[in-house]
Amino acid sequence: MVADPAVLYSPAAQSAAPSPSREQRSSEKLLAVDNVSLEYRTPERVVRATHRVSFDVHAADRFVLLGPSGCGKSTLLKAVAGFIPPVEGEIRIDGRRVAQPGPDRIVVFQEFDQLPPWKTVKQNVMFPLLASRTLGRKEAAERALHYLGKVGLAKFAEVHPHQLSGGMKQRVAIARALAMQPRVLLMDEPFAALDALTRRKMQQELLELWDEVRFTLLFVTHSIEEALVVGNRIALLSPHPGRMRAEVNSHGFTLASVGGAEFQGTAQRIHDMLFEEEAVA
Ligand code: ADP
Ligand code: MG
Repeated sequence: MVADPAVLYSPAAQSAAPSPSREQRSSEKLLAVDNVSLEYRTPERVVRATHRVSFDVHAADRFVLLGPSGCGKSTLLKAVAGFIPPVEGEIRIDGRRVAQPGPDRIVVFQEFDQLPPWKTVKQNVMFPLLASRTLGRKEAAERALHYLGKVGLAKFAEVHPHQLSGGMKQRVAIARALAMQPRVLLMDEPFAALDALTRRKMQQELLELWDEVRFTLLFVTHSIEEALVVGNRIALLSPHPGRMRAEVNSHGFTLASVGGAEFQGTAQRIHDMLFEEEAVA
């Protein structure tokens, strides 16, 4: 393989065994996903969605979970959000085990209908702040307007979601999530239902927003290109059940790199790693 200083591959196997130093360093990690297996149980059968997945997310990371459809990305995100308990392993935020949902972890989903249609844009952004008793009404309104400004929607504060395009609705969902100032922002294919041009624009805006706010992001996608653009670190997950295949350092790529030789080469190598035969792994 050609030496490529911008892209460091670390096979997952290398970090699979816990080492003594791992616990000592745990305080530096914002989010630790430690040997996590997740399952769905129905009366007829048990579906294992992920198998012993481990990764650490540090403050201000843009950490991407990348893998084919059905490999357990959404399930992992739901587990981090606190909706699904691991059957094996542990998830920790700031060293504390995740046992339930909390305002320190907010999810932005793919669907455009995640905003209650009877609330105005501003009321939508205020709602979690009020429901969680994070702020009083006046402060919540101020913070809502602040974050709506950050996503370019200050002028739309008083309209209802049905008057907005899909991209604008996703901006509101992002503003609503950021207004909660979560420890980690969770995004599950947030741009997948948008047209290609809007999707590209939203990726750019997300990066600009990150430059400004420096939030910590855990982002799920099945698009290699999107992973390279959005992420600074990418976890590659194998097909069903999802296992860690490798971690890729992608901080050197931006939207401007798309289409360039280095970008294409890395995308190809990721593709090969994602889809190589199990026997090779
Ligand atoms: P991804 O987001 O990577 O496409 P998911 O996390 O949605 O994958 O799903 C992982 C696996 O778990 C898939 O095989 C899927 O069919 C299964 N699964 C997802 N949700 C459920 C559920 N509610 N009940 C049973 N199986 C499920
Ligand atoms: Mg999914």
